[in-house]
Amino acid sequence: MAPKTLFSNPITLFKLFGFAVRIDASWIFIALLVVWALAAGFFPHRQPDLSQETYWLMGVIGALGLFASIIFHELWHSLVARRFDLPMTGITLFLFGGMAEMDEEPQRPMAEFAMAIAGPIASIVIGAVFYLIYSWGGDYLPVPLTEVLWYLAFINWVLAAFNLIPAYPLDGGRILRSALWRWKGDLSWATHKAANFGAGFGLVLILLGVVHLLAGNLVGGIWHAILGLFLRSAAQMSYQQVLMQESFEDVPVLQLIKQPPVTVSPQISIQELIDDYVYSYHFKMFPVVEGDRLLGCVTTRAVKEIPREQWSTTRVDSIIVDCAQTHAVDPHTPVTKALNHMKKNDLSRLMVVEDGRVKGIVSLKDILKAFSTRRELEE
Ligand SMILES: [Zn+2]
Repeated sequence: MAPKTLFSNPITLFKLFGFAVRIDASWIFIALLVVWALAAGFFPHRQPDLSQETYWLMGVIGALGLFASIIFHELWHSLVARRFDLPMTGITLFLFGGMAEMDEEPQRPMAEFAMAIAGPIASIVIGAVFYLIYSWGGDYLPVPLTEVLWYLAFINWVLAAFNLIPAYPLDGGRILRSALWRWKGDLSWATHKAANFGAGFGLVLILLGVVHLLAGNLVGGIWHAILGLFLRSAAQMSYQQVLMQESFEDVPVLQLIKQPPVTVSPQISIQELIDDYVYSYHFKMFPVVEGDRLLGCVTTRAVKEIPREQWSTTRVDSIIVDCAQTHAVDPHTPVTKALNHMKKNDLSRLMVVEDGRVKGIVSLKDILKAFSTRRELEE
């Protein structure tokens, strides 16, 4: 499980129980690596006298099985999270497996514990199912099939074991955090401790990677190093997110807005908009206001649709978009909600609107600045 900020542009594959299953571009590379490692190393090592084609076929089926196993693991995180009313955005497969993505952190230690442990339990169970079919079907099923079954049993248990390492944000780290949280009742302290464990374990992996590299194992070395770096940054990012949540828990966006907002009149031309607003403020979106009523927004994206030679003859009101849902929030919205909204819609500025009037603008930059000031004071 992880905050969704870790991914840039995942591709959606399909929907499962209402969760979008996505794949990060990195996974395509990993999938090829897995097929190769299985077909050229793992299976020939266990069963030396099968044909090359059989090994590759086993490699492909094994990789698909691994892929399904990871989805199964993440699906159980998501299903349990849903039981606790946590909004889940989907499941993304990436470098080291999968991530069930959350918009919000769990509210209670028990919810976190149940969500975190659901994935490893699912992996242990599905691994046991593969193992039972392997051992019961051993005498009847063809050897390549039983070998793939054995691999899937093994890999699911590895998946469970790895995820149970108490290094936040791995599942085990979340379990650790929920226990610490329950014990002291302090989420940020618990996260700090669990994230330290995660960062420390990441460092161990990086060092292991260096040892592998020195021993001439290039793939193993790079693999460990990337995994270690990833864990360290994920631990840090998750901790920052919790701190931010805490700093801004009860702060409404109203407190962070800049007044008065820069607004645009619907009567000016696009050329004037470019010269007087876009080039002087460098914003991508401006509220269009008549009197003090908000009519909508004008965005640089919409401007690009209009041919340059028509800019001086076209008025802003002809390219206004309705942005009340996407680009606006209520003044009493908590800052953390506004941040989530920005992330989800890939925006850096939101209008703060009340009763059809723009009260101000809240920007990502201002939120981050306010966050660091608050941190300095609190430390
Ligand atoms: Zn997990």
